Amino acid sequence: TLDFAGRLAKRLGAPVREEVVHAVDGVDLSVHKGEVVGLVGESGCGKSTLGRMVAGIMPASDGQIFREGVEVNTLQGAEAKRVKLRTQMIFQDPYASLNPRLRVADIVGEAPLYHGLTDAAGQAAYVDNQMRRAGLDPAFKRRYPHQFSGGQRQRIGIARALAVQPDFLVCDEAVAALDVSIQAQVLNLFMELRAELNLTYLFISHDLSVVEHLSDRVVIMYLGRVVEEAPVAEVFARANHPYTQSLLAAVPRIEARKKAFTVVQGEIPSPLNPPPGCHFHPRCPFAMPRCSVERPVLREIAPRHRSACHLNDAA
Ligand code: SF4
Ligand code: MG
Repeated sequence: TLDFAGRLAKRLGAPVREEVVHAVDGVDLSVHKGEVVGLVGESGCGKSTLGRMVAGIMPASDGQIFREGVEVNTLQGAEAKRVKLRTQMIFQDPYASLNPRLRVADIVGEAPLYHGLTDAAGQAAYVDNQMRRAGLDPAFKRRYPHQFSGGQRQRIGIARALAVQPDFLVCDEAVAALDVSIQAQVLNLFMELRAELNLTYLFISHDLSVVEHLSDRVVIMYLGRVVEEAPVAEVFARANHPYTQSLLAAVPRIEARKKAFTVVQGEIPSPLNPPPGCHFHPRCPFAMPRCSVERPVLREIAPRHRSACHLNDAA
């Protein structure tokens, strides 16, 4: 079921042994061409790990990534490189991922030259175009990253990613470090670019309200597992999983808050030693005896709506 055109899938077998991959356990995620999927959960839930695996910058010890029906790991040489370029990652802190000693012109222009997407003669104009597309004035291309504001630095990161002509962007908390007004501008830029360049997104955030306006579908993760998955409107109207409902409590909207409740206080448990059964049971106000021993299966509860909670068996 993972191999039709335009589909990228990540599948990880469970159980997994190594610590690093413990962060993601039995997750099966697909993103359709042109779709924006919001991946939401608290920090430490494994969403960054999953994003890095999908983007090919972190290997999965046990799992597969498909791109348009082809398993990415089976590709070699130039083809592997080309497929890897097509997925680019945007990080929370662009400053940490931008070389402080390089001018913007080089940050944006190096990779496309190296990969033959432009030549030395065309490089300057190529860089100007990428900067304009990301909302930056090419007049500033001789400057260094520290000479820009946080929002502008994120635009440099976006220009650098777009410069290698990806069709899939994995954005990990890409606006989390920005002021709210700047967040909106950068989110709008992502949406403009989606329309202009026909981009597909995996948009990772701890904040449901950030993904609300740009996602088609939302995937909720808790301690390395997907607990709910549904079209975005469905999540806000009919969240099923108690964990998703608790996330809605943080969203400043009256309709959402009506259903919201507070989860049991306390730290989120360590993903390296998650509670047995339903990982959420120590914090869940609806926990039943079976919740601490039996893992709930992610299953369809309505068309295109999946949830992993034992409460769904009672009906
Ligand atoms: Fe709560 Fe049990 Fe559902 Fe887990 S399975 S979310 S503990 S009711
Ligand atoms: Mg993270």
